[in-house]
Amino acid sequence: MMSVPPLYLDNNATAPLRDAAMDAMHEAMGPPANPSSVHGFGRAARLRVEDARMAVAGLAGCRASDVVFTSGGTEANNLVLSHYRHIITSKIEHDSVRAAHPNIRFVKVLPDGRVDCDDLRRHAMAVPDAERATSLISIMAANNETGVLQPLDDIAQIAAEAGIVLHSDMVQILGKHRIDFSGSGIGYASLSAHKIGGPAGVGALLVKPGCALSSLLKGGGQEHGRRSGTENLIGIAGFGAAATAAVGDRAHYTEMAVWRDAFEDHVISELPSTQIFGKSVPRLGNTSCIAAGPKTAETMVMAFDIAGVAVSAGAACSSGKVQNSHVLNAMGAGVASAHAIRVSGGWATKQADFETVADVFVRLYKKSD
Ligand code: PLP
Repeated sequence: MMSVPPLYLDNNATAPLRDAAMDAMHEAMGPPANPSSVHGFGRAARLRVEDARMAVAGLAGCRASDVVFTSGGTEANNLVLSHYRHIITSKIEHDSVRAAHPNIRFVKVLPDGRVDCDDLRRHAMAVPDAERATSLISIMAANNETGVLQPLDDIAQIAAEAGIVLHSDMVQILGKHRIDFSGSGIGYASLSAHKIGGPAGVGALLVKPGCALSSLLKGGGQEHGRRSGTENLIGIAGFGAAATAAVGDRAHYTEMAVWRDAFEDHVISELPSTQIFGKSVPRLGNTSCIAAGPKTAETMVMAFDIAGVAVSAGAACSSGKVQNSHVLNAMGAGVASAHAIRVSGGWATKQADFETVADVFVRLYKKSD
């Protein structure tokens, strides 16, 4: 039997399931539950879906009717991109944006991890008038590898000036910062349940009134014709419960930034050649993308695992292998990208966890010198 590492600091990959989400899923699991059925069972199922929709809307700062449930962040990204003919995006997006469309122009990224807004403006203004209505700008709110927050207000202004609608992948920022989707200049946003302590395989696309969307899947016309297929009631119930619980997390992530900074300060004081990506700009409080060489990140992640700490190296692809990070490459990190470890806390992370990883980090890297 595989031993499970006692310390989990890979929450940007997935967060542990919350008890409240598990309970909600158990409750939804028993009765027959097609929310489209008109009988009592169906109506009870519909009630659960609509309760969850309200909970997700509450966390994301939007109207319940803006929430279209999907099978996760990947589908939400694919769904919105598929509605447009021309995409402008950045080089640091998740693959479910980067690789989701045949007609994409990529905006440069600055060495600090933020999208180059001048380059974005150039791309947006170069779109011919006739193509504006069929173009979409897609820029994530927070990067999954570095935690770097993108200047979304500036980006929304550029999109508005160019007359092009803006989509944002908000999978990593959800629950960690206040989101006011309704009050923002963003037309669409993608969310995922398993990053906030809900189950994997469920997420949502937020769609502002007036922003069109056609279903990628042809079928029963559920979700008001925007996403066909019988709703994943169990997953949606778990998502709703996780969203309700996550409303109380924001102070936790503010505090976590202090623990994360103390971890980084300790490592730098012991290993002065350490490089931290995105440190000079606003970042999610839970994420540290840190390179200390000389061993590769892949080797070090295994060493951490043996030492009982689960962290990750760049972006793990579906095979579990470590890929060269397109994010760090876009930031011009060069060889350091092969050494970058990502430490990411979550709703269940405690201060002592960052203290432990600081000690383990220094011990392992001093040994590997
Ligand atoms: N977008 C970002 C930024 C992510 O980090 C992820 C998950 O790793 C996704 C999208 C995909 O979400 P899901 O796993 O729900 O498909």
